[in-house]
Amino acid sequence: MSAKGKVPAIGIDLGTTYSCVAVWQHNRIEIIANDQGNRITPSYVAFNETERLVGDAAKNQAAYNPINTIFGVKRLIGRRASDKIVQEDMKLWPFKVVAGSRDKPKIVVMYKNQIKEFSAEEISSMVLDKMKGVAEKFLGSSVEKAVITVPAHFNDSQRQSTKDAAMVAGLEVLRMIHEPTAAAIAYALDKRASVDGKMNVLVFDLGGGTFDVSILTIDEGGVVEVKATGGDTHLGGEDFDNRMVSYFVSELKRKSKADISKNLKALGRLRVCCERAKRIISTASQTTIDIDCLFNGIDFSAKFTRAKFEEVNMELFKKCMDTVKACLRDVNMSKDSIDEVVLVGGSTRIPKIQELLQELFNGKLLCQGINPDEAVAYGAGILAANLSGMGDEAVQVLELIDITPLSLGVGSDKDVMSVLIPRNSPIPTKMEDTFYTIYDNQTCMDLPVYQGERSKCTENYLLSQFCLSGLPPAPRGVVKVTVCYEIDANGILHVSAREITSGRNNAIKITNNGSLTKAEIKKMIEDAERYKLEDEAHMKKVMAHEALTESVCKLRAKIKDYKVRMKLRETVLSVEELEDIDHQIEEAIEWLDEHPDAEIVDLEDKEVEINDICRLTKLNLQ
Ligand code: AMP
Repeated sequence: MSAKGKVPAIGIDLGTTYSCVAVWQHNRIEIIANDQGNRITPSYVAFNETERLVGDAAKNQAAYNPINTIFGVKRLIGRRASDKIVQEDMKLWPFKVVAGSRDKPKIVVMYKNQIKEFSAEEISSMVLDKMKGVAEKFLGSSVEKAVITVPAHFNDSQRQSTKDAAMVAGLEVLRMIHEPTAAAIAYALDKRASVDGKMNVLVFDLGGGTFDVSILTIDEGGVVEVKATGGDTHLGGEDFDNRMVSYFVSELKRKSKADISKNLKALGRLRVCCERAKRIISTASQTTIDIDCLFNGIDFSAKFTRAKFEEVNMELFKKCMDTVKACLRDVNMSKDSIDEVVLVGGSTRIPKIQELLQELFNGKLLCQGINPDEAVAYGAGILAANLSGMGDEAVQVLELIDITPLSLGVGSDKDVMSVLIPRNSPIPTKMEDTFYTIYDNQTCMDLPVYQGERSKCTENYLLSQFCLSGLPPAPRGVVKVTVCYEIDANGILHVSAREITSGRNNAIKITNNGSLTKAEIKKMIEDAERYKLEDEAHMKKVMAHEALTESVCKLRAKIKDYKVRMKLRETVLSVEELEDIDHQIEEAIEWLDEHPDAEIVDLEDKEVEINDICRLTKLNLQ
């Protein structure tokens, strides 16, 4: 039961391909089904001439509206448009992405016959808003607070952008938590009775777009402590789909001399079929892909075997295994010291992945007891209950010690990364370092903030560039600046610097330069509200149209019945009267068919007309 008077906080797994929402209710975690009855919702948003679609409705129409159906924005969020990874993805995405101001990627779609541009944050906020709505419908109350999961390997910019997306969706982020850590919480709660002392768990989380490995300890007292994490924010099921698409594109070129690599629509249709085939060959040894009129009237038909799938993706599978080995090395642990290997994420259903992982752990049985699609949301739901003072004793005693996955440092003028917070440091954390001026009378010190593991800072990710100005003129090496890096519980970095030589405090706080400005967020919140109102108005129109169509069809059935009764002479209406009414009903049906986008006022007028007919016949529209 939820605590008295408390509004429940929800846990959202915002996935690359699917999202999932959970809440603590009636003494347990509930994974909430959406309006289609599905416990996971595609992270898809689509636009067409009349409406915006989110979730299943968007994914279901992807094959025939590929250029306006957006998916996988988690691979885009917090990245720059010029990012090599984004440039590579753009070649295979059926939708268009362009560089906006400050090199922010913008997704271009046709919506209501107009060209519109959306940021990754906006698209993500639409998915988050959908998940919020799913929870609100289930709970019967509004939801304002959430725990949202992010890949452990998200950098500061990707985290900040995810937080911005939540804000646009009207959600206060109670905590951002790493996906494998959330899965470990779910696992820990499931195992609470059987943990004797401490156990070492390795979570292997391979989803649609990201890959994370975490090594954690779980103790009987409810402490979940992350020891090390490794991964890739750009490796997952979509890459396997991409490899399949590329394989078929070159096969088509070779066999039919057809080049579909520039045809976004054909690529989109091929991708949908590849993903479907990929799932099939996780249980079957082969399948066939058939696509009518894929390109220039050519029908496409091809056999695809599990062996071929493994061949085109083996390099990526091996990369996953190498990450596991590196993670074990990071914490100086042997494979044998791992008590349990927990599988999370839809792509862990791939038999070869399971086989390679099992081989790596000398034949150890992999834990598939927790649902790989739901474990992350489940754990986020538990943490949401814990942070909002709900849940049972096991939930309340839960204690979480997480770490930062990537080192953070300051870049020097010699392109050397000076690390302030090394990776795998427990968070929250705060570290300081002192820097000196490097030339005489230097009044401004550049302090670029980098994240990454390379010793050359330019090979790491530049999070922000700031300059501490107003330094007192002095010979070089005299003026001292202390830089402080602070990572909060969400894994988000706050940087400040102060000049202490003259005793004058000159502190500045920076936020990520890739994140949205306050004004941008405000505009996005207003836009989101507008789109929501438009969606609601459209839905109202559709429902009114459907309701009237249904009523008119019922009326037609009644007239039919009338005609039968007429033969039996049980009706007071004449043949002419009945024919006339019948004609009017047919006309009304025709009108409804021809006006699928009829405005509510027109539908109301039509309803009045039909009601008049009813009155004539003493029939009831209902
Ligand atoms: P997640 O992000 O955890 O929801 O995982 C979604 C990814 O898992 C997508 O790329 C799916 O194509 C993939 N996936 C789901 N089921 C299967 C399956 N049976 N075999 C292979 N991949 C799958």
